Amino acid sequence: NGMNNLSVEEKVTVKSKNLDVLAEYNKSKRKKSANFVVIGHVDAGKSTLMGRLLADQGAIDQRTLEKYRKEAEKIGKGSFALAWVLDQGSEERARGVTIDIATNKFETNTTAFTIVDAPGHRDFVPNMIAGASQADFAVLVIDSNTGKFESGLRGQTKEHALLVRSMGVQKIVVAVNKMDTVQWAKERFDEIQQQISSFLTTAGFLARNISFVPCSGVLGDNISRRSEDPQSSWYTGPTLIEELETSEPYTHALDKPLRMTIGDVFRGGVQNPISISGRLDAGSLQVGDQILTMPSGESAAIRSIEVDGDTSDWAVAGQNVVLNLANIDPIHLRSGDVICRASSPIATITTFTAKVLAFEHLMPMLIDIHRGRLHVPGRISKLVASLDKASGAPIKKRPKIVGPGTVARIVVEMDQAVPLEAPTRIVLRSGGSTVAAGLLE
Ligand code: GDP
Repeated sequence: NGMNNLSVEEKVTVKSKNLDVLAEYNKSKRKKSANFVVIGHVDAGKSTLMGRLLADQGAIDQRTLEKYRKEAEKIGKGSFALAWVLDQGSEERARGVTIDIATNKFETNTTAFTIVDAPGHRDFVPNMIAGASQADFAVLVIDSNTGKFESGLRGQTKEHALLVRSMGVQKIVVAVNKMDTVQWAKERFDEIQQQISSFLTTAGFLARNISFVPCSGVLGDNISRRSEDPQSSWYTGPTLIEELETSEPYTHALDKPLRMTIGDVFRGGVQNPISISGRLDAGSLQVGDQILTMPSGESAAIRSIEVDGDTSDWAVAGQNVVLNLANIDPIHLRSGDVICRASSPIATITTFTAKVLAFEHLMPMLIDIHRGRLHVPGRISKLVASLDKASGAPIKKRPKIVGPGTVARIVVEMDQAVPLEAPTRIVLRSGGSTVAAGLLE
């Protein structure tokens, strides 16, 4: 096949510019990148709000929006136009409406945002777990409407918030949405803020990492522009966009050893026969660098780099990149493998301890360990303790079993050696469903 023709007999020499990448980064005008995941109860207005963000920031052109509006009107759901921007569900397609938009990126003056696994109405929790594993922060959408808020709190809101926290997401922006339906009542906002704060701190979020913005996704109020509704004049804080932009610090470890988990391996064409894509988890790299791919332990040279679709001489942690490689046979590159350097390679391990949130009963049992797209079979070999959600302190040592909703420290063994190190976000599945998610310690 074609791949085999790309023999590595002739080594390519790639010249390095020997850049001081961190210095380049600091003086570059390149926007910081931030990934976030959107969570909340069904119908809280997540899709509408995200559609609004994309539209306001010019990520969707007017013609496309107009097309949606028409398509939506045709089947009598005019107000859904914005939500449809993001709704990638199959329901619409079944009705013969094609929505070909796939964008989930938008930019402000300072930041290039990616909405990771934006919510459709289906399969939401599995999507969200995948999203949460790549998110710098979460946006929690709350329906401020009386009654709806309370039912939301009993529903997915809590489950989602606990899940993203368990996966190591530290910062959460709460969009108190549909404020137009409660006449922008400050009392309502205060009440919601108080209840959600108390719940989020119990779930382990620090108060200083939680913020609240009263808004209306449908009207676009306090999303990218300030609400002009006189009833909302009591609110003088940031708009949602301003809040997202200040959602630093992202824990991007620029000065740590290079780590990048391979998302996809593909053939980039004649010029770039072997390319890999993914997000730089830690460290930095530049054209001409020698990298090591684990677990195969093979080396390769970086021929060229793309950052968010643009050619670049270098890349740093937090950026979504494509690396065009030379001097490696693609059989050594698989999605889920880790790119590092020979000087500080990632260890391959067969057992680890993790702090996880249980979705189902956990006991010593067979499971699949998922990290990004990588998955390997293994088992929970020991329950070390059940833990307090807020403090992480042990509640009960050596439990025989822990129930859904419990946070626990467990020991996991894998059937093969895998490049993994703390703090990696992992998901444990069994029989086709997710049984736990959390952080390798
Ligand atoms: P999702 O399930 O969380 O993605 O919610 P959707 O975005 O599909 O919104 C659910 C419903 O709430 C739709 O009918 C929206 O038009 C409506 N909606 C969303 N945001 C607002 C808002 O800010 N104000 C009002 N009045 N309705 C909204």
